[in-house]
Amino acid sequence: MNGDASIPLIETHQLQRKYGRGDAAVAGLAGVDLTIHRGEMVALMGPSGSGKSTLMQILGLLDRPTSGSYRLSGSDISTLSGSQQAELRGRRIGFVFQGIHLLPRLSAIRNVELPMAYARFPASERKALAMHSLSRVGLNHLADRRPNQLSGGQAQRIAIARAVAPGPDLLLADEPTGALDRASGREVLALFQHLNADLGLTIILVTHDPFVGRHAQRIVELEDGRIIGDRAVDDRIQPEQPMEVHV
Ligand code: ADP
Repeated sequence: MNGDASIPLIETHQLQRKYGRGDAAVAGLAGVDLTIHRGEMVALMGPSGSGKSTLMQILGLLDRPTSGSYRLSGSDISTLSGSQQAELRGRRIGFVFQGIHLLPRLSAIRNVELPMAYARFPASERKALAMHSLSRVGLNHLADRRPNQLSGGQAQRIAIARAVAPGPDLLLADEPTGALDRASGREVLALFQHLNADLGLTIILVTHDPFVGRHAQRIVELEDGRIIGDRAVDDRIQPEQPMEVHV
């Protein structure tokens, strides 16, 4: 991917996604113009059905728009083949979900390594990258634990280590604190803020919770498949204590 800081990481123009055909078609997105620069941390908010998941799926190259354009680091993604998109997704985009989705039979470190195997990172690099990523989230000492030996907050931090291990430019997080208690949720949000500030990682997180949204620098609000608000967060919540993470 092109690393030129003057080129937006994300640039969409009149992005539309229709589900179904003809009169019965439902607009998931109804014309979204969105520009996000490298190093931003953005919360995507809006009521249920407003198009948040649809937008995240398209930004994450898991789905294609019906019309409109999407440039990722200056490249028009419509010109890429399915396998080129998959390769870009595997190396450049990390995903974190509310449901965490660690594989129960694998240790934490094997969970972190697995997507790098799919993205064809050499076996010799995977373990070192996984270990480095686990120390970034402060959990290298839990590398050999199975998911059922971790708390919910620890499991989500392992999932974040898995998402960032390949060194992505973009992290997409869908309700990442939705399944966590308040304290674990705050730890996860502090971790995102550190990854954003220290690595310059661009983060987009979907949330319906205004408290979570205030951890971002910018809030983009969707309604009926359109952007109805886009503002800087002037009362941003930041961690009181610097966190023990190693970048
Ligand atoms: P949100 O994530 O904000 O809840 P979604 O992106 O899931 O919103 O949905 C936006 C709109 O698109 C809604 O009207 C929803 O019903 C519709 N939609 C989403 N996915 C599908 C699908 N696979 N098939 C048909 N309609 C869909």
